[in-house]
Amino acid sequence: MKNTSVKAYGTESAEADLKQMNIDRREVTSKDVGIDILYCGVCHSDLHFARNDWGMTQYPVVPGHEIVGRVTHVGDGVSKYKKGDLVAFGCLVDSCRSCKNCKADLEQYCPEWVGTYGGYDKHLDTNTHGGYSENIVVDEAFVLRVPENLDPAGVAPILCAGITTWSPLRHWKVGKGSKVAVVGLGGLGHMAIKLASALGAHVTLFSRSPNKVEDARALGTDDVIISTDEAQMEDAAGRFDVIIDTVPYEHDLNPYVNTLATSGTLVVVGYLGPLNPMLVTVPMIMGRKSVAGSLIGGIAETQELLDFCGEHNITSDIEVIKMQDINKAYQRMLKSDVKYRFVIDMKSLKN
Ligand code: NAP
Ligand code: ZN
Ligand code: ZN
Repeated sequence: MKNTSVKAYGTESAEADLKQMNIDRREVTSKDVGIDILYCGVCHSDLHFARNDWGMTQYPVVPGHEIVGRVTHVGDGVSKYKKGDLVAFGCLVDSCRSCKNCKADLEQYCPEWVGTYGGYDKHLDTNTHGGYSENIVVDEAFVLRVPENLDPAGVAPILCAGITTWSPLRHWKVGKGSKVAVVGLGGLGHMAIKLASALGAHVTLFSRSPNKVEDARALGTDDVIISTDEAQMEDAAGRFDVIIDTVPYEHDLNPYVNTLATSGTLVVVGYLGPLNPMLVTVPMIMGRKSVAGSLIGGIAETQELLDFCGEHNITSDIEVIKMQDINKAYQRMLKSDVKYRFVIDMKSLKN
């Protein structure tokens, strides 16, 4: 098969900065769509992966899984897309398509799901490489349609930050009158606020950062609790039906469980790893409370979200950067200095 070499940004070790490199893309096969990448969002997972925070990175790695682009090529068996279409895709580029999860539109829980980066590319027999690159080839089954009324740069973060918060909001049936809280105002957190609020929920933000209160209100938050203030935390006891916790690093969940209403659920989407201190079960048992986890969302659910965003005119609040500024962007993300998602304009890599 004839592959093409394309420009990308990635890293060869956990300690090294990201730099320009060349990677191979496969030739468009029958069911494939070739996509010219216009914008790629910068997720905290990109940073975790580049730095091997989860201990499973194989190098080199080219991150990026919030991708919007234009179709440039289609295989002879492609039926959904044509050259020129504005399309997007997120964290998934393949799955087995036959297991129970795949059949239930839950491809993200397929044991054989293929990540947009760091997965196994069966065509090239290498790791998959993500959206910090000029172009990409993806099976049409994992490609989504972008509503043309939305700003394509602001759409990119919907593909991970958006769907990761939408999926639990939908699964736990958030709607008009639900009491929802979001922990952490970053990329995922700001999308959670916009989406829960568009679904009609009463939304509260838990944040360590008093300087984000005004922004939180502008995003649709009804209330803000400063999570480092014990009195404010205690005052919120028994309040929430659903909490979406987006904090990327180890933290104590017990004070948040205390703020769940009877039968409420705290959904962890941020931190992957062991908990210290451990969960105290007494308040869970005494209030039928749950602590759950959730991973991105399936393909159909992501299209549902894009359509919902089109109808409600929802995009991410972004700061557009050049590819060459990615290392500075990672530094700023570690300081929570992002309002509220970096998006790379891929023209900067192409020129
Ligand atoms: P982000 O933009 O960096 O936002 C994280 C927010 O969490 C920060 O803005 C900050 O908000 C708060 N925070 C950061 N460090 C903290 C700490 N040490 N203690 C308490 N709060 C802290 O990150 P993101 O892109 O939204 O991603 C959040 C996490 O979700 C990452 O770990 C990422 O890997 C994960 N993720 C999971 C999935 C999934 O499918 N489950 C998908 C995508 C991402 P305040 O200043 O308001 O406190
Ligand atoms: Zn992500
Ligand atoms: Zn499967």
